[in-house]
Amino acid sequence: MTSLAHFEALAGSIAIPSKAVIDGKVTPALSGKTFDNVSPRNGRIINAVAEGDSADIDAAVASARAAFEDGRWRKKHYNEKKRILFKLADLMKRDAEQLALLESLDVGKPINDSLKVDIPASIKTVRYYAEALDKVYGEVGPETSDRISFAVHEPLGVIGCVVPWNFPLMMAAWKIAPALAMGNSVVLKPAEQSPLTALKLGELALEAGLPPGVLNVVPGFGAAAGKALALHMDVDMIAFTGSGAVGKLLMQYSGQSNLKRVSLELGGKSPQIVFADCPDLKAAAEHAAWGIFYNQGEVCTAASRLLVHEDIADAFVENLLGIARTITPGDPLSPDTRFGAMVSEEQMKTALRYISTANSEGCALRLGGRRAREDTGGFYVEPTVFDAVKADATLSREEVFGPVLAVTRFSDTGQALKMANGTVYGLAAGVWTKDVSLAHRAARELRAGLVWVNGWDACDITMPFGGFKQSGFGRDRSLHALHKYADLKSVSITLR
Ligand code: NAP
Ligand code: MG
Repeated sequence: MTSLAHFEALAGSIAIPSKAVIDGKVTPALSGKTFDNVSPRNGRIINAVAEGDSADIDAAVASARAAFEDGRWRKKHYNEKKRILFKLADLMKRDAEQLALLESLDVGKPINDSLKVDIPASIKTVRYYAEALDKVYGEVGPETSDRISFAVHEPLGVIGCVVPWNFPLMMAAWKIAPALAMGNSVVLKPAEQSPLTALKLGELALEAGLPPGVLNVVPGFGAAAGKALALHMDVDMIAFTGSGAVGKLLMQYSGQSNLKRVSLELGGKSPQIVFADCPDLKAAAEHAAWGIFYNQGEVCTAASRLLVHEDIADAFVENLLGIARTITPGDPLSPDTRFGAMVSEEQMKTALRYISTANSEGCALRLGGRRAREDTGGFYVEPTVFDAVKADATLSREEVFGPVLAVTRFSDTGQALKMANGTVYGLAAGVWTKDVSLAHRAARELRAGLVWVNGWDACDITMPFGGFKQSGFGRDRSLHALHKYADLKSVSITLR
């Protein structure tokens, strides 16, 4: 049986990765600079991590380009590509406990979630795309007697992956695995708050036999390393998950450089609508609570708005509060903890600022609202629920990316759907109803890339993931993600 003491001892005994992986070598930054990597668990420094900048990005892109051009990965037989990616998944499984520990130390998420969700899902992602890579077929065009035409999927070249800190390994795996499966080379820039599992992944890929230069990992700051990658003339695509503000910059960088392709997954303000004929009020209340409080609310698909029919609202909100009261901030390394620390002091302050704005705008605070466990030196915020939140309140419109739920009551279906669609975002949405016609109508009318009926977050790697409107474009997960990392080439052979 694992315990807090077990994970604390493990943290003191494992090698914590700190260096970049460039051109097949585990290496310090060319400048020799490092930055302090802080654990939100207690505000203490975990280690000093290589601070990559444009020089390291240049080296990584040159290496990725050379690997792509000489075909050391791209031209490998698909059986061999599969074997190496499966080996990578096996090594991730071998080191799953270490990866989980690194993730929880780095970002403050409960170790139980890292062990049971983040790391297994990341391994599954690598396996899924390893299995899929020899099932990508082209097309044969209409026949004529003197010509054969076909369309093939060609890898794009060098893919820059820029990922956030909320699910660091999983977001990296969602991008890297399909990009590699299609034969591309990759340069990964993890978030400055969460470099550890990305660095470990780079080391494991070398151990698995991925040729040098095919997967480079350059830790560093967005404004230096990330920007250099996105402005690079020799990068063919940026695959991004993170904030809308940076997403907009990435499109500018593309226009200012080489028109590289950009895919953006940008978070949301996702509504969960509970109609009066909800088939299972208990399940709906559970999903309403965990839809926002899972991962401390630092989830792009967080169910941050609850729209509930006025006929059932009072009882429903009491149920929800009953569940939310049992979710208390705890030490991320304790196996009993279900709700950990926010990723950084800055993110904690952002959440507290939104709470203060909601109070000043007249929203009714029903639970939480304060910093917690301050004595630990860590960055914890209580699960927080506001009721009577108006549709035009800041809390109804802006993404907090923290454990703050906005409850709004509605009286008719049209009003509920209008409110649900009434933000600039369109990532996820949910409805709870027994009425199959209403479920269908709502599912079609909701402007969101993911719609869940009578559940929340109810799908996995097999289904596409991404947003409408300012939640971005391009899809992670599923077989569709493979095509994101390829271009279609039409070939015609005239028979003479
Ligand atoms: P962010 O700034 O968008 O960071 C995401 C990634 O982009 C990080 O790797 C970051 O590097 C990099 N980056 C930052 N500036 C860049 C630039 N000019 N060029 C290229 N890359 C750049 O997100 P954040 O600051 O960590 O969080 C801010 C807000 O973003 C959150 O409150 C939340 O609303 C949203 N967010 C959304 C998601 C999501 O899943 N959609 C995930 C995380 C955050 P650095 O880490 O070094 O800055
Ligand atoms: Mg960190």
